[in-house]
Amino acid sequence: MKMPKTTKRFCPYCKKKTEQKIDLVKTGIKRGTLKRGSLERAKKRNAIPGKGNKGRYGSKPAIKSWKRKTKATTRKVVIYKCQECKKSKHAKNSRRVSKLLIGEKAG
Ligand SMILES: [Zn+2]
Repeated sequence: MKMPKTTKRFCPYCKKKTEQKIDLVKTGIKRGTLKRGSLERAKKRNAIPGKGNKGRYGSKPAIKSWKRKTKATTRKVVIYKCQECKKSKHAKNSRRVSKLLIGEKAG
């Protein structure tokens, strides 16, 4: 799916139509420096994620590769950032797409 970089959309903070930047919502979590899943803690326990299999850290189970992927598409959420007040808002609905190309002309 193709989407333009910017669109004119209603901004609930400015209460008018403004130019808004389209961006994808990033998935995944940040590794905290003091959290249990932190890299520093892993190093102290002599287990660096992705290297070897010491304790609960390590490579993923092989079973996952046997199983067939049920869905070829992933759910993507678009975020709109107002260029005037620099505030952003999520899109009302997420959509299933195989690939979301931002910056190309919508078709
Ligand atoms: Zn605004």
